[in-house]
Amino acid sequence: MPEPIAPLNTLVIEKLSGGITAIGINVPGCSQNVMNQDFMQELEQVFAFLQQNPPRGLLVESLRDDSFLAGADIGQIDTVWSLPPARLKELCDHGRKLLGTFASSPWPSVAVIDGVCLGGGLELALACDLRIATENHKTILGMPEVKLGLLPGWGGTVRLPRLIGIGPAIELIASGDAITGSQAKTLGLVDACVPVHSARESACVLIEQAIATGDYLKRRSELQLPHILDKPESDFLLATTGAVIVGRTKGNYPAPMVAFNTIMQGAAKSTTEAAALESKAFSELAKTSVAKQLVRVYRLGERNRSDCGLGKSTQLTPNKSLRVNELQKPSIVGAGIMGAGITARHVRSGFVTKLVDINAEALGQSIPTILEEAAWDRYYQKTNQERVGELTGRLMSSTQLSSIAGTDIVIESVIERTDLKRQVLAEIETTVSPSTIICTNTSTNPIATLADVFSDPTRFCGMHFFNPVRKMSLVEVIRGPDTSDSTVASVVLHAKRLKKVPVVVQDSPGFLVNRVLTPYLHESVELLREGVDPSRIDKVSRRFGMPLGPLELYDMVGLDTAFYAGLVMANAIGDRIDASPVIPALVKAGWLGRKTGTGFYTYKGTGHDATIESVNEKLNDLIDPYRLAEQQTTDEQIRDRLFLPMLLESLLVLDEGIVRDGCDIDLAVIHALGFPAFRGGVLAWGDYLGAAEVVRRLNKFNYLGPRMTPPARLLAHAESGRPFTLVEESGSHSRKAT
Ligand code: NAD
Repeated sequence: MPEPIAPLNTLVIEKLSGGITAIGINVPGCSQNVMNQDFMQELEQVFAFLQQNPPRGLLVESLRDDSFLAGADIGQIDTVWSLPPARLKELCDHGRKLLGTFASSPWPSVAVIDGVCLGGGLELALACDLRIATENHKTILGMPEVKLGLLPGWGGTVRLPRLIGIGPAIELIASGDAITGSQAKTLGLVDACVPVHSARESACVLIEQAIATGDYLKRRSELQLPHILDKPESDFLLATTGAVIVGRTKGNYPAPMVAFNTIMQGAAKSTTEAAALESKAFSELAKTSVAKQLVRVYRLGERNRSDCGLGKSTQLTPNKSLRVNELQKPSIVGAGIMGAGITARHVRSGFVTKLVDINAEALGQSIPTILEEAAWDRYYQKTNQERVGELTGRLMSSTQLSSIAGTDIVIESVIERTDLKRQVLAEIETTVSPSTIICTNTSTNPIATLADVFSDPTRFCGMHFFNPVRKMSLVEVIRGPDTSDSTVASVVLHAKRLKKVPVVVQDSPGFLVNRVLTPYLHESVELLREGVDPSRIDKVSRRFGMPLGPLELYDMVGLDTAFYAGLVMANAIGDRIDASPVIPALVKAGWLGRKTGTGFYTYKGTGHDATIESVNEKLNDLIDPYRLAEQQTTDEQIRDRLFLPMLLESLLVLDEGIVRDGCDIDLAVIHALGFPAFRGGVLAWGDYLGAAEVVRRLNKFNYLGPRMTPPARLLAHAESGRPFTLVEESGSHSRKAT
């Protein structure tokens, strides 16, 4: 076989029998196959080679396990921000034209999709005449560009609706969600879903059939045709899918709605006109600050995934002497709200898990909930009953602590009482082997207070999950005074195997998340005392992008829990923030929030499924004894009073070295509090304002005393103009892609 023009680094050409040529993708130096500059240039060379050496049929496959092609190289995306729109359009047009060569060549082509196939990778597969996905559970297909504030720019919005229909294409592109091979088959996105070992053979059969029937040429011309929706159809899509997008994005994330409009408009036009719409939309989205922030947040996540949580952000790998254990045999002690959630996560992640609770009734009640949660099918939004049966064997429950003897990690999650926790932890240590790692899910106890019951405290740390465990991805891994690096790194690894986002924090009141949350919650109650309407406070917070307002959050957490946590925090940071008298008054009135059906709001029903009925009408009477001088407050002032104290507390957390850098704070507030990702986290929001502007805004509130006083670190940033988030820019650029 003649050689291509130059030696190839990322692609391998192989001649198969019957005149079929295979292109194998293998991009070196990246954790996944990605479409970097080398890949795109070499693809061009390969097409030139194929023009000279025409095959009967073409097969595109990956030479790596579990990674077909994960899309454009995010590591190279920073160049995009500085390009003028016209140049961005050119780049889109060029990439789309290159992939279009598959569909304009005389021979049929088949993509064999085994492993991750995302973004540009799926656009390449769509440009082929046929697609085969494998049954490999790591095979996923999707266009996640909207999660980075962008949309597919290499023909995805043009080809996908023509292949699977406008509605399903909008759903896939505007959600950014990935689907499995068999779901892709159901949607018509792939022509077959087969076992991995027979994928290549099936692809060759499809090529032979395509050549014999010539059907692929007919299909090509059909896929060029516009797809004109009549008015009722387009009205229906607008009222259903469009409305869902608006509800989900709340106007804060432009990309999904832009994708919706681009697909709707492009579908009715020729493919050339649709492509022009796509390029224009991409170049406009790439200019938004939302896209930049979402890419940064993606990189923070990538750093977290590749990181052991120790050391500076530039030293991401553990040192060689660090022993990191892959823990296999977990036990959870305490089957309450949290223990059940933590157990479900373990079972879902494939661990055979032991669950212990002294209360047989509580234990028995938790089992069905755990199995249902573990077998939850996110795609179909319901429990997969077949899966419940399969998972049952992975869960072992007991009322006897002795049953956890053979375990290698124990997570204690009994009720939040220091004496009880100390007693249970001491008993756990004597029950398990000397190498077993022991964690506590305490929210408020200092790790040091619990660590002194251990004869070997090096293997003990906090592992703080957030409620509800199924939704909140953050886990704080809290170092006690004697916790070893090996314990921390092993627990970090364990959290990642649970698909959680672990952040290592030092032992300090409120750890990280509750510490930065406290001033925000406190301020909401101060505003109430000044006469601001509760629903207005929550509305301002939600408009800022929070999933719940602070008073709604109080009601969800429970006023009794919040009262206790508030006391702990007031002891720690009482020079700035007092425990509010309003919270104990609510507790005294029996208004504990959702769980009692009344808190700041009244609810229809109780518990997690409760829905807000109205503001609690009797709230004013309860607050009256604690009123502060009434203020005329604008929505902008409410916003600043809620979020600036959170920023100030984050700066103090940095001063105290509670986390290693600001990236961990931004990641934590997004994953634990739902701080809006489009703002990039609380410090990124501070950078958006600029330190000098933050000081200026705080000065307007100096009548509120120390809690609004700019700390030294802020003043230094205002003086130097140095951003708060500068630190992560070194070492965080990943080579992964979407
Ligand atoms: P919960 O009251 O729902 O459950 C506690 C469970 O512990 C009960 O089922 C009880 O029977 C069991 N228990 C008590 N003594 C025991 C013993 N000696 N051995 C075994 N089991 C025992 O409490 P929860 O809300 O699940 O909280 C558990 C822990 O998680 C607490 O430390 C809490 O601070 C922490 N936490 C709670 C939340 C939250 O929002 N609920 C969030 C994060 C962390």
